[in-house]
Amino acid sequence: MENKDKKQQNSFNNFSKFSIIYILIGIFMVYMYQFYSTTEKTTISYSQFKQLVEQGKIKKCKISEKYIKGTYIAKDNKTKKFITVAVDDPNLVKDLQKHNVDFSGTITNTWLTNLIFGWILPFGFLFFLWWLMTKKMRGTSGGLFGFGKSRFKVYLNEKPDVKFSDVAGAEEAKQEIQEIVEFLKDPDKYKRLGGRAPKGVLLVGAPGTGKTLLAKATAGEAGTPFISISGSEFVEMFVGVGASRVRDLFNEAKKLSPCIVFIDEIDAIGKSRALNSLTSNDEREQTLNQLLAEMDGFDSSVGVIIMAATNRPEVLDPALMRPGRFDRQIIVDKPDVKGREAILKVHIKKIKIGNDVNVETLAKMTPGLVGADLANIVNEAALLAARENKDAVNMEHFEEAIERQLAGLKKKNRVIKEDEKKRVAYHESGHAIIAYLLPGADPVHKISIVPRGLSALGYTQQLPTDEKYLITKEDMLDKVAVLFGGRAAEEIVFGSISTGAQNDLMRATDIVRAIITQFGMDEKLGLVVFEKPGGNQFLTSEGILKERDEISEKTKELIDEEISRMMREIYERAKKILLENRDKLEILANELLQKEIINEEELKAVMEGKNGLQD
Ligand code: ADP
Ligand code: ZN
Repeated sequence: MENKDKKQQNSFNNFSKFSIIYILIGIFMVYMYQFYSTTEKTTISYSQFKQLVEQGKIKKCKISEKYIKGTYIAKDNKTKKFITVAVDDPNLVKDLQKHNVDFSGTITNTWLTNLIFGWILPFGFLFFLWWLMTKKMRGTSGGLFGFGKSRFKVYLNEKPDVKFSDVAGAEEAKQEIQEIVEFLKDPDKYKRLGGRAPKGVLLVGAPGTGKTLLAKATAGEAGTPFISISGSEFVEMFVGVGASRVRDLFNEAKKLSPCIVFIDEIDAIGKSRALNSLTSNDEREQTLNQLLAEMDGFDSSVGVIIMAATNRPEVLDPALMRPGRFDRQIIVDKPDVKGREAILKVHIKKIKIGNDVNVETLAKMTPGLVGADLANIVNEAALLAARENKDAVNMEHFEEAIERQLAGLKKKNRVIKEDEKKRVAYHESGHAIIAYLLPGADPVHKISIVPRGLSALGYTQQLPTDEKYLITKEDMLDKVAVLFGGRAAEEIVFGSISTGAQNDLMRATDIVRAIITQFGMDEKLGLVVFEKPGGNQFLTSEGILKERDEISEKTKELIDEEISRMMREIYERAKKILLENRDKLEILANELLQKEIINEEELKAVMEGKNGLQD
């Protein structure tokens, strides 16, 4: 981020220097032209000139191909300059001699003025306009001729001194990356020991979660160079240049190996080709193809690791994820309470804090915030303290800084309110408890109320135990009950329901509809299959609705009735289960509010009554 700013500044300096020179030259030329051509010169006609010669009023003149310039005595007896257009006049010399005019011939250097005014200035101006226009396209890449060969590099090459200890919280990610560090430290040894050399690593996570930091730390730990470029910088440039940049980048990387190449915002070039077939962007596609070709082209023993970051993995072209490319994906999640505390500690180390500062409390005050936000808060708190001339940063400064940060984020809709968080905690606990108790549901792996994006405030992650090819009706009913668990919990605890269950309800409806119309599992409608399964039988209802045209009105009504009856029954069942486990719901939701993330074992402990809250 900082680096980007610096580059922008550079290109701004280039721009202003360049244009100031141009403006100065322009002013100078206009001035010279004025000085030589028009100052105090009277333009007279040739006949007037001849008349003046007759009258003996011309003193001196210079005759060139096109003009006659000279001095004459005006009516007020003052000597004035004149200029007139020369005509083909064979008597001119005779007349001049007759009237004692001091005359001489000159060859005017019109070619120079012609050259300057007719060619250099207009073309210079056009070139300047073109430069201005293309400047934007070239983005932040500096230099007038900075396209094509990378004489002016868009990528940064550094040897970061960031270490894993500077990256707090992301323990899982660090563990996975450790292997990359081992490889970079000694590629040959790694291969000798039989490790399959890694090539591409995709870091997936929201902005500010520390993906760049993590990549830098990988280079820092391994002591290798770190070459970085942003995906958007590839495509903002001239047509055809993106691909050659990629080539340059890889050539450079091979020279510097072992090293890390980091491509930020890879979605800018790696967007799925299928996704926007309408607005195809040849430039981006060429760049992507070149990237794929380069990644396939080099042997992993070269010791170059490509790391890329994105916060939208779902839009990436699947080709990027094939073996030998970005076949490793590392999730860099938003931090939970413990993670935030660790991140705050890393940044607080750099400043002097007062005794009253409680980092644990600060972590609790900042749900949903990412590493970049927390770094900002510490920085802001230090500034606030400095403004007050304090020699240590106190709790009040942190509180003020958090408030400011939250206010800023609130505008961008990134902050969850306390009561919303509570609702999400009960909602997810509802899912989890039912999933834990019903045999047909997949076991719960993780419950989280760390918001992931605007739409998902929390999630309950279930992992199927083993691949099942046959699903019984009971299994499906259990799954629907789990989906209803969230909404049922909200109703029980708050007496009201929220929009948070919309996705749950959609999925539930799809399953119930399939039970009735595709699998012939309903008593009333019997064994008839009314609808063909869609691409994904549980997730989409597209295509299914079309088929309904062929069914009689009466049957349609019956289907709808049966769907809502079954849904109601399952919902009541879910509610009953939660009411019977009301105490567990309370404990789980509160634990979730504190820890933000609960894993399988912790859920088990709560459900088996082993774990109450210790406060
Ligand atoms: P991303 O690349 O995911 O958008 P960055 O790596 O640019 O995020 O993070 C921006 C800044 O936020 C970092 O320079 C660092 O100061 C801070 N930061 C983010 N995550 C962490 C973390 N896990 N530990 C410490 N600092 C972090
Ligand atoms: Zn839900």
